[in-house]
Amino acid sequence: MSHSKKIAVIGAGLGGAAMGILLQKAGFDVEVYEQAPAFSRLGAGIHIGPNIMKIFREMGLEHDLEEMGCHSEEWISRNGNTGEVQAQAKLTGYGAAYLTIHRGDMHARQIEALQQDKLHFDKRLSQVEQDEYGVTLTFADGTVTQADIVIGADGINSKIRETILGVEAPLYSGWVAHRAIISGEKLKQLKAKFDLDDCVKWWYEDRHIMAYSTTKERDEYYFVTGVPHPAWDFQGKSFVPCDKAELFETFKDFHPSILAMIEASDDVTKWPLNNRNPLPVWSNGRLVLLGDACHPMKPHMAQGAGMAIEDAAMLTRCLLEEGLENYEQAFSLYEQNRKERASQVQKVSNANTFLKEQEDPSWVYGFDVYAQPLHAEETA
Ligand SMILES: Cc1cc2nc3c(=O)[nH]c(=O)nc-3n(C[C@H](O)[C@H](O)[C@H](O)COP(=O)(O)OP(=O)(O)OC[C@H]3O[C@@H](n4cnc5c(N)ncnc54)[C@H](O)[C@@H]3O)c2cc1C
Repeated sequence: MSHSKKIAVIGAGLGGAAMGILLQKAGFDVEVYEQAPAFSRLGAGIHIGPNIMKIFREMGLEHDLEEMGCHSEEWISRNGNTGEVQAQAKLTGYGAAYLTIHRGDMHARQIEALQQDKLHFDKRLSQVEQDEYGVTLTFADGTVTQADIVIGADGINSKIRETILGVEAPLYSGWVAHRAIISGEKLKQLKAKFDLDDCVKWWYEDRHIMAYSTTKERDEYYFVTGVPHPAWDFQGKSFVPCDKAELFETFKDFHPSILAMIEASDDVTKWPLNNRNPLPVWSNGRLVLLGDACHPMKPHMAQGAGMAIEDAAMLTRCLLEEGLENYEQAFSLYEQNRKERASQVQKVSNANTFLKEQEDPSWVYGFDVYAQPLHAEETA
């Protein structure tokens, strides 16, 4: 098998960075291009289920993350008003830890794990042309490079998706998420008044708030909401600061501990939750998509980045299976072995029903991308 051809990954987010690391570890020549001028640490939390920790094991980052994140033993769903437990799921026993962690710290580890001379910041892809010999990528700074195949890990507004399927704005889901961190003295005071669950989702009528510890020492707590909001009227901004008064009003019927949590939080930001319908194809010629470029979802199962990282693991497997020279077969194999799972997670996440009531979550957490036999459709 020849590994000498060049792969370009567009985007060094959670999915693109995973893609780069896994392909580089497998011996491929991979350049990663990111539009941001430098790495920036997004101040938010993230869940990393055992299904994803098994892939971090492959990347050589499992131990590092285990030292950083909170080892949550159960997910608790509570009635937002009374605090009564309405569902509970054990997060242990899946062959890897379930972590809740600071997203920026995790992303930083991923960025460090990439081959540094192959990671290019300040490279916003602006044009893509492919022919029988390869792909020509033009960046906003006027530079041009060539690759044999290109992986679009460039998020919901993906240029690669646009090249494959045409211009189409994402759909606003009608929901926003608020995000905030609680730390230091304010967290100590909050903990003195209330028992904070390591990982809890508070549900009430049409809205919810998910809260969890983001460090092993439990010295940082984070919340993220899901709230209906008729329109995103902030002219193209991907988030805006949010006044706490708005949040108090939004959660006024919630348990006193939620109101205290809002009071104790640092700066609150508000994010639109955007979406797309499932794409008719995931690849075209030398171009292929993963993660939010391919199947963005509302984040209510805490598995969006998880699906991007599972995609990266499966695509690496398929490129190894078929060989880089057979990239079209590899892309087809990848889509056949990812579409059903990613679409199912996308559907349940968008419906926001996961663990609202008692259910068995092992179809999500027990999944091991490396243990799946590769299915290939018979072709005539
Ligand atoms: C409020 C909220 C909470 C969430 N919580 C969780 C959670 O707990 N667990 C979880 O698994 N998921 C969660 N998610 C989902 C998760 O954030 C996304 O699914 C994940 O970030 C997708 O990763 P990605 O790499 O596909 O895309 P992105 O993270 O969007 O990365 C795309 C990258 O491509 C770059 N890029 C874009 N265009 C170009 C271009 N033209 N040229 C070069 N570079 C480009 C961008 O700058 C960016 O770095 C949450 C999402 C939200 C909004």
